[in-house]
Amino acid sequence: MANPIRVLVAKPGLDGHDRGALVVAQGLRDEGMEVIYTGLRQTPDQIAAVAVQEDVACVGLSSLSGAHMDLFPEVVQALRARGAGDILVIGGGVIPEQDIPLLKQSGIAEIFTPGSSIHGMAEYIRQHVAKASVLPPLTGRIDHIGIAVDSIAKSIAFYTEHLGLPLVHEETIPDDHVKVAFLQAGETFLELLEPLSEASAVATFLKKRGPGMHHIAYEVDSVEEALLRAQNAGYRLLDEKPRRGGHGKLIGFVHPAASNGVLTEYCQRIKEHAQ
Ligand code: ZN
Repeated sequence: MANPIRVLVAKPGLDGHDRGALVVAQGLRDEGMEVIYTGLRQTPDQIAAVAVQEDVACVGLSSLSGAHMDLFPEVVQALRARGAGDILVIGGGVIPEQDIPLLKQSGIAEIFTPGSSIHGMAEYIRQHVAKASVLPPLTGRIDHIGIAVDSIAKSIAFYTEHLGLPLVHEETIPDDHVKVAFLQAGETFLELLEPLSEASAVATFLKKRGPGMHHIAYEVDSVEEALLRAQNAGYRLLDEKPRRGGHGKLIGFVHPAASNGVLTEYCQRIKEHAQ
């Protein structure tokens, strides 16, 4: 039999009512989970410390005080600061509908409002924890750096003639309305991206920011898993599923808000004889 899922139920902040949290803790125990309860009035950092120490797979936060908009994201930050950003964080309590999108953006995977069933919550935890726990860490090797240009023909000389980088691949990607050129710089590539129409995201980028660095692409074993891992950690995705990119790769993008304004791409070489 598999080990039971370990969950930390925590009440950040100052409110002194924990009946709801206790009901959830007991309900999740009845669902076969191992539940640790922190007790009242914990700081986000205390909660993160216990979560790491107890090696939980999920943290369930409860708040009735109205301070959830500060406290919930602070718990996520504290977990990430301890290298535990892959712990699933969910929240519950008295939380207005309009707060939910922002909480999700800041890394709370799901919010359960009063009236949600504990069984539904347990199912959610089972599904998402199971996915997260089998995901291997990413390698993080930079595969290529994408650079937006108005015209590849007009900008390539700097790379080929001045830097002496070989042009290894050119391609048109109709789905993205771009033409790309790959130049080899040691073990990494540069990808020049030229928009072919106004419909291209690169055209929008050029209009807003001018030519320049457009994205960093990390090589991963599985784009699907990398996207799932990012989603579980609360980062906003631009691609829910891997799709075909240039240079024989599967790709997927994470929103630049996740990574300090720089668009992140995951890419995976498509095996030549796959399937
Ligand atoms: Zn790219």
